[in-house]
Amino acid sequence: MQIKTILNRVQKFKSFVYGKVRLLGCRENTRIEVDVVPRSNSRPRCSKCGRSGPCYDHLPMRRFEFVPLWGVKVFLLYAPRRVDCPKCGVKVEEIPWALGKRPLTKAYGWFLSGWAKRLSWKETAGVFRTSWESVFRSVEMAVEWGRKNQNLDDVHSIGIDEIAWKKGHKYLTLVYQIDEHCKRLLWIGNERKTKTLLSFFHWLGGERSGELQYICSDMWKPYLKVIAKKAGQAIHILDRFHIMAHFSKALDEVRAGEVKELKANGYEPILTKTRWLLLKRPENLTEGQEVTLAELLQYNLRSVRAYLLKEDFQQFWSYVSPYWAERFLEQWCKRTMLSKIKPMKRVAQMLRNHKPLLLNWFRAKGQLSSGVVEGFNTKAKLTTRKAFGFRTFHGAEIALYHTLGNLPEPDFTHKFC
Ligand SMILES: [Zn+2]
Repeated sequence: MQIKTILNRVQKFKSFVYGKVRLLGCRENTRIEVDVVPRSNSRPRCSKCGRSGPCYDHLPMRRFEFVPLWGVKVFLLYAPRRVDCPKCGVKVEEIPWALGKRPLTKAYGWFLSGWAKRLSWKETAGVFRTSWESVFRSVEMAVEWGRKNQNLDDVHSIGIDEIAWKKGHKYLTLVYQIDEHCKRLLWIGNERKTKTLLSFFHWLGGERSGELQYICSDMWKPYLKVIAKKAGQAIHILDRFHIMAHFSKALDEVRAGEVKELKANGYEPILTKTRWLLLKRPENLTEGQEVTLAELLQYNLRSVRAYLLKEDFQQFWSYVSPYWAERFLEQWCKRTMLSKIKPMKRVAQMLRNHKPLLLNWFRAKGQLSSGVVEGFNTKAKLTTRKAFGFRTFHGAEIALYHTLGNLPEPDFTHKFC
């Protein structure tokens, strides 16, 4: 059996045929070269409009890297024709296996982008002895195709999130679809301004924005404003994950301040190494940590009181009726405002200011799972951290869509990986 037979099975083009096949080089340089020629009497198609026309002339031979076979690099060799297009004039012909002007074939691009989902981009480049750039271009191609061909019908629930980027100096706004039937990253914006979220709604379109039923987000002011304006019909919910993140931040601040004070006054360092102890949910503590926490709770420290206020607030989420939830919220805020712990008082004030949106959580109960946005947030942070070389917004954007976008792929006659 010949390599040509396999090629015709896995990738066949109507107007082209495979010619001679050569095995060349040695060791790392071993490669297979396959000539490609136009089928006799076939007319080239214009790469701009797709019409066929008479052949004008031939360009120099180009090499297109194909999926490697048994660790041997494979290249298709073809001298593109120029077509005398009746509409566009003299143009290069359309080459169905080529990835624009890139030296990779589409098949190899999809192959690399498929592996880049399982391995890091660097590892993918290493395993297949290609460049990081080639892997990046392949992923970019897959993302562009997927974004163009994705179905945006039936988007009813979205979650809006932001992640710090570039060592925390910059933010990205991420919008996820969090419907039961489909969970994916929908959109990414540079920054987290009013303008940013406005461009999301612009991208989604007026009609689809009008079909949104639930929107989860943080209390970030620009977000609140835009959501009210662009999707006023949706139930806007301040989600549990983001609210509790504000608590953790406040608690951190209280603890850090108190550690400093205790040190300055020459007290025992009882609060050192307790940061995670106080931030973790009690059910996630190890046995040893439980003992340390129990000891710590005996002290009348601001950190301890703040911790208890935070843990007490968790009860809020377990209410079924918005009425009782509101009663609880009021009592909790009152108590906290009397606590004399500044960062916690700020949290209470913030919750009071956003009470209606906070109580929407109970109006949407059962419809949304609070863990979805949190799960995506963790994965998004991991992706940007893991991915070296994403110095540009475009690089980060491509990586995030690739891992979290759940993007469609074309129907292949043969799957290479
Ligand atoms: Zn044309």
